[in-house]
Amino acid sequence: MALNELSREIYQRQILLPELGEEGQEKLAASSVLVCGCGGLGSPALLYLAAMGIGRLGLLDGDVVSYSNLNRQVLYGRSDVGRRKAEAAAERIRFLNPDIKLDVHGEYLTKDNASSLLFGYDLALDCLDNFPARFILNDACLSLEIPFIHGGVNRLRGQTMTVIPGRTACLRCLFPGGIEDAPDTDDKAIIGATAGVIASLQVTEAFKYLTGQPVNRGLLMYDGKEPGARLLGLEPDPNCICQVKSL
Ligand SMILES: [Zn+2]
Repeated sequence: MALNELSREIYQRQILLPELGEEGQEKLAASSVLVCGCGGLGSPALLYLAAMGIGRLGLLDGDVVSYSNLNRQVLYGRSDVGRRKAEAAAERIRFLNPDIKLDVHGEYLTKDNASSLLFGYDLALDCLDNFPARFILNDACLSLEIPFIHGGVNRLRGQTMTVIPGRTACLRCLFPGGIEDAPDTDDKAIIGATAGVIASLQVTEAFKYLTGQPVNRGLLMYDGKEPGARLLGLEPDPNCICQVKSL
């Protein structure tokens, strides 16, 4: 669908990118992304996805807003405390960009609902806060062949990994022992800016994937105490379920 005059004006600064142009902007407008988790990562990710002009966004979170969320979950204000995150987030996103179609899911990702929630989306963002849920997302995305972008944060550190079923390593390649191998998530120390950095990297990967540009291959590791970020190359584990399925 061709862009109208208002869209040309709103998105003009990104349309200027040779990687995007009007054609790329139309691709973004025709794209759909399910954001799993509307917390520390999901808040900035949703803001940037909405501002970028993604056509359809899914907002998935079963939690309600609490005061202890407000240092990093920048979609919400004090008057949102007690409200369902998915609903409060949708209200804020509608205010920012009323052109976007929103699917509001006030529930947690589970083995039972993962496939039906993900079905039909071009891409998912892992903005979850625990590894059991991330493995559910990983496995559902592999079986539906939907790419997803993992994100995780702790203290001043964070990581992202772009998982394209059949082409890249998945979370089970990274943690062959499953949940047992995954990092301890009991440590809840975090500043909002770390989540902002990682969510921004996830949205940059989403932008690249949805507009047909090469994505990062491997685990991108960021530590706010050091300059820059590091990409740890990661090849698919030939014994992993992601490879067995693609054979
Ligand atoms: Zn794998």
